[in-house]
Amino acid sequence: MNTIGHFIDGAHVAGTSERLHDIYDPNTGAVQARVALATDGELDQAVASAVAAQTVWAQTNPQRRSRVLFAYKALVEQHIDELAELLSREHGKVLADSRGDVMRGLDVIEFACGVPHAQKGEHTYGAGPEIDVYSMRKPLGVVAGITPFNFPAMIPMWMFGMAIATGNACILKPSEKDPSVPMRLAELFVEAGGPKGLLNVVNGDKTVVDAILAHADIKAVSFVGSSDIAQYVYAGATANGKRAQCMGGAKNHGIIMPDANMEQAAKDILGAAYGSAGERCMALPVVVPVGEGTADRFLEAFMPKLNALRVGVSTDAEADYGPVVTQAHKDKVESLIDQAEAEGATVVVDGRGFTLQGHEDGFFIGPTLLDDVTPDMATYHEEIFGPVLQIVRASDFEEALRLPSEHQYGNGVCIFTANGRVAREFADRVEVGMVGINVPIPVPVSYHSFGGWKRSAFGDANQYGMEGLRFYTKVKTVTQRWPEGETEDSAFIIPHFG
Ligand code: NAD
Repeated sequence: MNTIGHFIDGAHVAGTSERLHDIYDPNTGAVQARVALATDGELDQAVASAVAAQTVWAQTNPQRRSRVLFAYKALVEQHIDELAELLSREHGKVLADSRGDVMRGLDVIEFACGVPHAQKGEHTYGAGPEIDVYSMRKPLGVVAGITPFNFPAMIPMWMFGMAIATGNACILKPSEKDPSVPMRLAELFVEAGGPKGLLNVVNGDKTVVDAILAHADIKAVSFVGSSDIAQYVYAGATANGKRAQCMGGAKNHGIIMPDANMEQAAKDILGAAYGSAGERCMALPVVVPVGEGTADRFLEAFMPKLNALRVGVSTDAEADYGPVVTQAHKDKVESLIDQAEAEGATVVVDGRGFTLQGHEDGFFIGPTLLDDVTPDMATYHEEIFGPVLQIVRASDFEEALRLPSEHQYGNGVCIFTANGRVAREFADRVEVGMVGINVPIPVPVSYHSFGGWKRSAFGDANQYGMEGLRFYTKVKTVTQRWPEGETEDSAFIIPHFG
């Protein structure tokens, strides 16, 4: 059986800890590989190689750095089918969705190719008598990215794309559930002409995360995963003087106003709730029909579509979604459905106990629809992260606005309406970081930035775009003059040029 090690200084390195983690094929339920869990020593080795590579990279002029990223983008595009296949095999999402995962990461690499323009400093000529002021954005040094299982291509690229473009080296610690795509992305970076050591992959679990948080040569930590771990990583990183941006879980609401185009809303919600088996932080697992009769009209449009959903193996081109990532995750999702039922939710469609013929041991869950969910239920507040849609009815706009605003998570939200004035007010007042107006999955494009509010993000910098650039750089400001002739007297008051 294949054992995946680490990727350090441009080469595969076998793990030494003898601690291994099983990687499943979610379609069959079988263990298909193992990944080595790193020791502190292996992290030290990766950081030492990154420090050496970064020193040279930071002195390389920006357009040369950018050319490496252009070549990388082209190479990843050439390998997109191979990457998608590898991704589906470990994650379980359908192939077309895996391609989307790579494409959304490449969007950020594309933005990163243009970073020399964005990273230029500011300059004021003559800010005082013969005094000029200019600033520069310097890289931080070595940074770390810690990523979740659900986007093993996109999220690593969000992080190392921006980090490397701005002159840093990156240590990537991917999810131990599906590390093969991040490993391949790092290999391709070297093939594209990226310096060895600039992007190292260290596989592991809590042990290596703790070592990252404590390592003196790691200057910043970008994390994406569940909220409790995000908060833990944020606290640990910042206590050790590092910058941190830590994205957490989500429970995104889709508000349906009575005037919405119901057919379109039903189609959009179907894809956003069940796509990738609901394992997306920007999924829409809660639908909020507003006003008398809206829920009935929604269900009328939605039920035929839900009944026609096709669950299949990730290579089935006709399948709408595939298995969830592990048996443990399947058990967790099903137990949350049990709990919702016990709390009084109506199980309209029950995906528990679903099996796919020929793949009885795969981690499949059928689509599930829960109605009559209320905000006092614990399962309304939990992130279920499976193919489960909850209906919470609201009597009016104000109540619908309060639901996502008062929820512990504030990642994404969407309002379906034909009324621009209502949509505008909703977007203005809702306490959520990313808002869709008739757009079910409002993941911002790469030249904007990604980030939620409340327990969906700890720290004050979003991922990618100009926010990413600011996160991975520090500003140095120089005030200069070149006096000539007689010297001036000492000044005892703070200089001002007013
Ligand atoms: P997770 O929190 O279990 O794991 C994320 C990372 O943290 C992994 O690299 C893992 O190895 C590490 N980790 C796990 N337990 C740890 C511990 N005790 N101490 C230190 N490190 C630990 O998350 P996951 O299950 O891989 O991913 C799903 C979660 O990620 C969901 O909650 C989802 O909403 C969230 N997510 C959020 C965003 C976002 O941008 N807000 C995007 C994608 C996923």
